[in-house]
Amino acid sequence: MTTTASSSMLSGSNSGEVLRVQVAACTRLLNMLGVLHYSGHVSIRAPGRDQLYIQTRTESRAEVTPDSILLVDFDGNVLEGLPGKPPSELVIHTGIYKARPDVGAVIHNHMPLAAAITMARGARVEIMDFHASRWAAGVPVMREVGHIKTEADGAVLARALGDANALLLRAHGLVLTSESAPAILVDTVHFEDNLKAMKEALAFGGELMPITAEEIARVGEYEDRAHHICKMWNYYAGEGRKANILPDDWDVEL
Ligand SMILES: [Zn+2]
Repeated sequence: MTTTASSSMLSGSNSGEVLRVQVAACTRLLNMLGVLHYSGHVSIRAPGRDQLYIQTRTESRAEVTPDSILLVDFDGNVLEGLPGKPPSELVIHTGIYKARPDVGAVIHNHMPLAAAITMARGARVEIMDFHASRWAAGVPVMREVGHIKTEADGAVLARALGDANALLLRAHGLVLTSESAPAILVDTVHFEDNLKAMKEALAFGGELMPITAEEIARVGEYEDRAHHICKMWNYYAGEGRKANILPDDWDVEL
């Protein structure tokens, strides 16, 4: 398989080849940004099938390639890809895709700020930045502590997520859901930026002043999510090119 995805990405193609490039690029870029490191994983649903694309359990997030991305069914069977097992917390992804037909991409990571906010009694995610308005309805917390490794664990996690697009895992990390790999990168950056803003604002000694529901509604009237995702994805892809994170022959830009 060539690693060049062709210009089909521009036309919105969701062929397996394009999706493999997107999972690999998203993973490398989030590793570049320090969100993924030795652990954490991104997946994309294979449209119309009970299958997903995800990296192997052991490959470095800095070195994944389209060829090494696995195609896995919702029972965890590897259908395509180089030899290797899927991540040990695969059921996070399969549990969500089974429960949420609207979700096209999932990330699980161990973002320190996401874990830390679950360690402060009474603390919750406030919307400080309008780019975080996607989570204005609230970010639930899964209280059970520990890795998510069984199908039953995955179902519990999906129930804890419910209809939300973010779930904090107590003393563990974070799950986000989006429509695509570019969107999951953008949402991950904004989720972390919002937590940083909360923490930094509190350092000034006053009270937090989250943006209000009315302000979120007003901003939402002129925000173009698709345009914003395209702009940010292409920006980080460009940074990845300059840093030699993304190979020249990966057709990544939207
Ligand atoms: Zn984990």
